[in-house]
Amino acid sequence: MNKIDIILVGNPNVGKSTLFNTLTGLKQHTGNWTGKTVEFAKGNMEYKNHSLNFIDLPGTYSLNSYSKEEEVTNDYIESNNYDLIVVVLDAITINRGLILALDVLKKNNKVIICVNLIDEAIKKGIYINFNKLSKTLEVPVIPISAKNKKGIDNLLDKIINFESKKNSVNYNEFNIVNIVKENVKYTQSVYDEKTSKMDKVLTSKLTGIPIMIALLFFILWITIYLSNFPSNWLFNFFNYLENILEKILSTLRFSSLVSNLLIQGIYKTVTWVISVMLPPMIIFFPLFTLLEDYGLLPRISFNMDHLFSKCNTCGKQCLTMLMGFGCNAVGVTNARIIESKKEKIIAILTNVFVPCNGRFPTIIAMISIFFVSVNNMFLASSLSALLLTLIIIFSIIITLLVSKILSKFLFKNYKSTFILELPQYRKPNILSVITHAIFDRTLFILGKAISISVPAGIIIYLFANLYIGDTNLLNFLAIKLNSIGNFIGIDGMIILAFLLGFPANEIVIPILLMGYLKTGNLIEYNNLETLKNILVNNNWNLLTAINFVILCLFHFPCSTTFITIKKELKSNYWSIISLFLPLIIGIILCLITKTLWQLFL
Ligand code: GDP
Repeated sequence: MNKIDIILVGNPNVGKSTLFNTLTGLKQHTGNWTGKTVEFAKGNMEYKNHSLNFIDLPGTYSLNSYSKEEEVTNDYIESNNYDLIVVVLDAITINRGLILALDVLKKNNKVIICVNLIDEAIKKGIYINFNKLSKTLEVPVIPISAKNKKGIDNLLDKIINFESKKNSVNYNEFNIVNIVKENVKYTQSVYDEKTSKMDKVLTSKLTGIPIMIALLFFILWITIYLSNFPSNWLFNFFNYLENILEKILSTLRFSSLVSNLLIQGIYKTVTWVISVMLPPMIIFFPLFTLLEDYGLLPRISFNMDHLFSKCNTCGKQCLTMLMGFGCNAVGVTNARIIESKKEKIIAILTNVFVPCNGRFPTIIAMISIFFVSVNNMFLASSLSALLLTLIIIFSIIITLLVSKILSKFLFKNYKSTFILELPQYRKPNILSVITHAIFDRTLFILGKAISISVPAGIIIYLFANLYIGDTNLLNFLAIKLNSIGNFIGIDGMIILAFLLGFPANEIVIPILLMGYLKTGNLIEYNNLETLKNILVNNNWNLLTAINFVILCLFHFPCSTTFITIKKELKSNYWSIISLFLPLIIGIILCLITKTLWQLFL
C-alpha cells in the first residue's frame, strides 16, 4: 500500500478541521471562530489502496512568522517532511486565502489547492473558474464542501494521482487582485444584507454589549429553570438505587466498614456530582455551542475588545473566558490563540475568575437559598439568573481590573497585537451541535469530575470517620482553621472544604455537608431547604453566604486547571502566581464585605 503524508494548511476558519474530520473520521472540534486549531491533529485514512496520513496545521494568514501559528506552519513547510500540501481556501474570502496559497507556492509546489464552502459561495452568487485558476497557478484547484461531503472523492483522486513537476511560473510575480479579477465573478455583494444588518445591531457600541448581557441572562435562565427538573429526578433515582445497593451489599455480607465506604463515601459523592452537574451542562453546552457555531463568540469578543484594550490586553482574552465557562482548563488551553506572550499569561492567570461548570451549581444553590426566597419556580429561576448574570459581570470587571494592573506593572516591555476575524453568520448544524456539546464537552467534563470524585469520596469519608479524641478529623481540622475563617467572615469548615476541594470544585458542598453533619455520612440531600437548614444551624448568615460565593469565584484553580496552567506556561514562577493571585483577591474582597457588614449592619 502506498503511503502519502499530507499537510493541511489554510487561513483560520476556512473549514480545515471540518475537512480533516470528514477525511479521517476524527472528532477534532470545529467552531466558527478564528484560531481554534492551535496544535497539530493527525489522522489517517485508506483510499484506493493508498494509506493517507493527514496533519492539520494551525490556521494562519501568511508565512511571515509574525505569530506562533505562522512560525509553526512555516517551519513545517520548510521541513519537507511530507509528500503533499493541501491548501484549503474559503470560497467566500478567496482573495485572502490566495495570499497564503502564493506564500506556500513560493516555497514548495507540491501543492493542491482546495476551495471549500462552495455551497455558500453558490448561495452568495460567487462563481469561480476553477479550470482557469488551476491553469494560472499550475496546480490542481478542487472545489469542495467539507460540511456536505461534496467533492471529497475528487480531492482524494487528485491526491493519490499527484505528480510533482517543475512549474514554469514565477509565483513572486503574481498579483492577487488580478488573479481574483480574472477568475472569480461576484454577482451579489459578498457580505449579504442580513449579515451586515445583524452586525450593525450586534456589534454596535450602543446595542452590542446590552444584547450580549441579555443573551447571557437568557441562557443562564433557561439553564437554571430547566435543570431543576432532571436534577430532582436524578436525586430521587439515586436515592432509590441506594436502598437497593444497600440491600445487595448486606445480602453479600460486606462488612459495614466496606459497605459504608462504598455507599456513604464513593456512591454519595459521585451521585451528588452527577445530579448537580449533569443537568446544567446538558442544557448549557448545546446552547453555548449553538452560539459558537452561529458565529456569535467572535462578536462578543469584538464588543469587549475596546474594554480589554483599555486594560492593555485584547479581545481574544474574552474568547478564552467564554471557553472557561465550560471548564477553566479548556479556557487556559485556548489561550494559545493569543499571539502576544504578555496577553497570553494574563488570560491564563485570570481565566479562573470565570465560574466554570463545576462552580456554577454551587453558586446557583447559594443564590437560591440565601438571596431568592420565592416559591414560584419561574420567578425564582428568573431572579437567580439575574443575580448570576450580575455575579458574572462582577467577575468580568475584576478580570479587567486585574488585567490592567498586571499589564501595567509586570509586562511593561511587551508589544501587543490584535487581529480577530468576524466570520459570516452560519446556520449551525443541530445534530453536530448536540453531538459536540454532549460527547466532547458534557461527557468529557463529567467523566473527569467522576474520576476525581471516586478517590475524593474515599478520602472525605475517611476524614469524616477517623477520630481524634471524640471529634472526627474534618471537624478537628476545621476548628483549627476557625480563627482564620472568622477573620475573613466565614468559618474553618468552609476553608477546609475549599482546600479538600482542590481536586474538583464540585465536591466542595459534599465536604461541607459531611463536615457540618458530624455523622460521617453524606446527608440525604433532596432539596435546597435541607441544605439551608444545615447551613443556618451552623451559623451561616448572609455575610457567610456572600463570602462563600466570593471565594467560590476567587480561590485557587482546581487541580486539572492548575496542571494545565503549568503545562501551558512552562514556568514555576507563573504557576505559583496562578495559585495565589485569585486567593489574594478573594481574601481582599471578603475583608471588604466583612468590614461593610460590620459598619452598616
Ligand atoms: P477551521 O478553523 O479552518 O478548522 O474551520 P472549521 O472546520 O472549524 O469550520 C469553520 C466553520 O465553517 C464551522 O462552523 C463549520 O461548520 C463551517 N464549514 C466548514 N466547511 C463548510 C462547508 O463546506 N460549508 C458550509 N456551509 N460551512 C462549512
